Amino acid sequence: MTNQSIPALRIGILDGDDIGHEIVPASVDIARAAAELHGVAIDWHPLPIGARALQTHGHTLPPGTLETLRTLDGWLLGPIGHRGYPKGPNAINPHPILRKTFNLFANVRPTRSYPDIGCLHDGVDLVIVRENNEGFQPDRNMVAGSGEFRPNDEVTLSVRVITRTGSRRVARAAFELARQRRKHLTYVHKDTVFKLGCGMFVEECRKLAEEYPDVRVDDVIVDTFAMRLVRDPQSFDVVVTTNMFGDILSDEAAGLVGGLGMAPGLCIGDGDIAMAQATHGSAPDIAGQGIANPYAMIESTRMLFDWLGHSRGNEGAVRMATSMSRATTAALADRSARTGDIRGSGNTVAFTQAVLRNLSA
Ligand code: ATP
Repeated sequence: MTNQSIPALRIGILDGDDIGHEIVPASVDIARAAAELHGVAIDWHPLPIGARALQTHGHTLPPGTLETLRTLDGWLLGPIGHRGYPKGPNAINPHPILRKTFNLFANVRPTRSYPDIGCLHDGVDLVIVRENNEGFQPDRNMVAGSGEFRPNDEVTLSVRVITRTGSRRVARAAFELARQRRKHLTYVHKDTVFKLGCGMFVEECRKLAEEYPDVRVDDVIVDTFAMRLVRDPQSFDVVVTTNMFGDILSDEAAGLVGGLGMAPGLCIGDGDIAMAQATHGSAPDIAGQGIANPYAMIESTRMLFDWLGHSRGNEGAVRMATSMSRATTAALADRSARTGDIRGSGNTVAFTQAVLRNLSA
């Protein structure tokens, strides 16, 4: 039964590459079942992207995919294995285009520990909010050309872009998140050395802190943070940082709680769309074997529906996300279901089935 007064959510399905073809369908199956349980209407839109799209449509981001995405509420994006693409103008990495086109500047990456899966610490529950559209990554900091260049064979220069607007908006996303959680925000930087770049990021975080007097704020230098994250991850709640620091630190955080299979993410911006995207890559080394851990993609999907539920006032979608969360936690406790990377004897299908079995309203 669906609620007739609330418009159906329009959700895209983009498998991505390699293990994407295993973990995205698993996540969709679970979301479909949870939606049915709570009467949430969803129009699903499978869309071509990546290596398969190159074969079928002659382009890794074929005409039509972006246009359809513009009409959606959100989508699941599986990992993109662009390093495996053949060289050629039609084999581009579609990922930065999606982030830029839809201005998805905040990459929200939670880290949570669960019992018995090989976490290095118990009681970890933190979220790293990584700036997603500027910083050091050369594919994100130029309109044309690359942010890296080599004037002669001995010298390479890499440009890092930090803007006030970019810093302020990602910091605001993090403050808002902190407000919904334990009201503690840590901003991570290295303004002792990058006095202008990190300095600007810190200035904007500090200014914004005045608007959030209910949020406890502290700032930590990135190298100290990397050490404290290993020793004392429970002392953090929401963490905001620039692109490359966030990229590295969120993988480090994943390492604390069972590895990349346990690292979900949601890309958001100022607009009203969001993209569910796990932190990990397309894992070509294990693709096709049925052993990929689908947790990160399933949890990213859950985050998408929770976010859409709140932003659209769609209570069914929020309840759907709550059910998914309970079912996933129960499946993680089942050693015979969970995958080998988190000390299980199961596989992708067994874990997915366990989540489906544990779904309840
Ligand atoms: P990228 O740079 O695209 O993020 P990467 O170089 O970090 O990719 P991944 O594809 O993330 O590499 O894989 C790193 C390692 O983690 C590989 O050994 C891979 O098998 C493993 N891995 C990644 N994701 C998963 C998963 N969901 N389940 C199990 N193992 C995974």
